[in-house]
Amino acid sequence: ACFAGSAANKSIPPDKKMVPSERVFSLCHGARLVIKQGDITTEDVDAIVNAANERMLGGGGVDGAIHRAAGGELVRACAAVPEVASGVRCPTGEARITPGFKLKARHVIHTVGPIYENPKYSAPLLASAYRNSLKLALEHGLKSVSFPGISTGVFGYPFDEAAEVALTAVDKALDAAGEGGSVKEVRFVLFNEPLYKTFVETAEERSVET
Ligand code: ADP
Repeated sequence: ACFAGSAANKSIPPDKKMVPSERVFSLCHGARLVIKQGDITTEDVDAIVNAANERMLGGGGVDGAIHRAAGGELVRACAAVPEVASGVRCPTGEARITPGFKLKARHVIHTVGPIYENPKYSAPLLASAYRNSLKLALEHGLKSVSFPGISTGVFGYPFDEAAEVALTAVDKALDAAGEGGSVKEVRFVLFNEPLYKTFVETAEERSVET
């Protein structure tokens, strides 16, 4: 894998005693990784990823925020996604795509992360949620995708483990997609500051190692 490169500290001049709200790293094949603190519902990108649940009919946390911002057409589009089992439109670790409706984002990629149990059981499911989300983005020729911290809210994933799994999964998926892959910018838009800091620290460790 080729997660690498210089970690450019973009936004905040050094005289301002603030935590930088956005950091930029390099990924494989010229793609950019942006880690920022903020609200994913205002992202102007080809797709935002929703940390949904298997029913895909909305919920709390980021799911609720995305549905409120997208308007009622989103829940109707979700309801039209076929069930693969009773009450299950998107099994844990898989992903489904809908339009973004009233969002600035053109699409919503709905994925379902695991409820955290332990690293051995949960990490492959969380990695699969990231991988399958990026797979859909690549299949639809999307260039920019914003992720929340999947499973880091009510699903209870420890922040450091979640960051490690997320960054590894993104790195591998873009590496596998190769030069011709459409996705050129992956953004993590993290609502809370401790999670933002954990993602930045994890990315810094990885880029030093390469
Ligand atoms: P999960 O069930 O996958 O844990 P949650 O929605 O409870 O999903 O939390 C996932 C993450 O989304 C948490 O880190 C939470 O702080 C974050 N979050 C909540 N609202 C927003 C938002 N508007 N933008 C970005 N992240 C958000």
